[in-house]
Amino acid sequence: MKETLQYTTISLPVMEHFYTLQGEGYHQGRAAYFIRLGGCDVGCVWCDVKDSWDAEKHPLFTIDDLLLNIEKTPAKLVVITGGEPLMHNLAALTTALHAKGLETNIETSGAHPLSGSWDWICLSPKKFKAPLPEIVPLANELKVVIFNQSDFSWAEKYAALAAPSCKLYLQPEWDKAASVTPLIIDYIKANPQWELSLQIHKYINVP
Ligand code: SF4
Repeated sequence: MKETLQYTTISLPVMEHFYTLQGEGYHQGRAAYFIRLGGCDVGCVWCDVKDSWDAEKHPLFTIDDLLLNIEKTPAKLVVITGGEPLMHNLAALTTALHAKGLETNIETSGAHPLSGSWDWICLSPKKFKAPLPEIVPLANELKVVIFNQSDFSWAEKYAALAAPSCKLYLQPEWDKAASVTPLIIDYIKANPQWELSLQIHKYINVP
């Protein structure tokens, strides 16, 4: 009981948290509880969650608070995203989630040291602040956002460093989707180790 109190009273800045469907990548279509942590120093020019960047703008939630909210839903899978979630030490959070029998997934740029215990690591490397080399072989999924033609070679650079079992996804940047999706389709046809990831939550209008 004492240990429970120790870890569950730790606080993290939370921009938003909600139960929805995972819209992207390998777990696309699964019901998932999303926790979007505040704080990011990666600075992607096309970032669609710029409000997340300043951690101090977001309220602190204890792990207990988060567990109470998750347990109001039938969620089995929790996705920790951001912002850049690895700006925070996530060991206590993932220990608490696992203790409740929940599956833990993270979506990270890999720009900060890995903490926490993860059932699935989705690494989305960003040119604006490259991932730490030690994280790349640990990724279960590499998801590269394609904004322009040069992003394909960026994607291949990290695919070469990933584990052989790592799933490889190319995802059009939302505002550029009309122009880059045809390029991605041609690229995947020529390089079938890659698959297409679409942000289906934006098509079906869920958060
Ligand atoms: S890493 Fe994510 S949250 Fe941070 S700037 Fe890039 S897209 Fe935005």
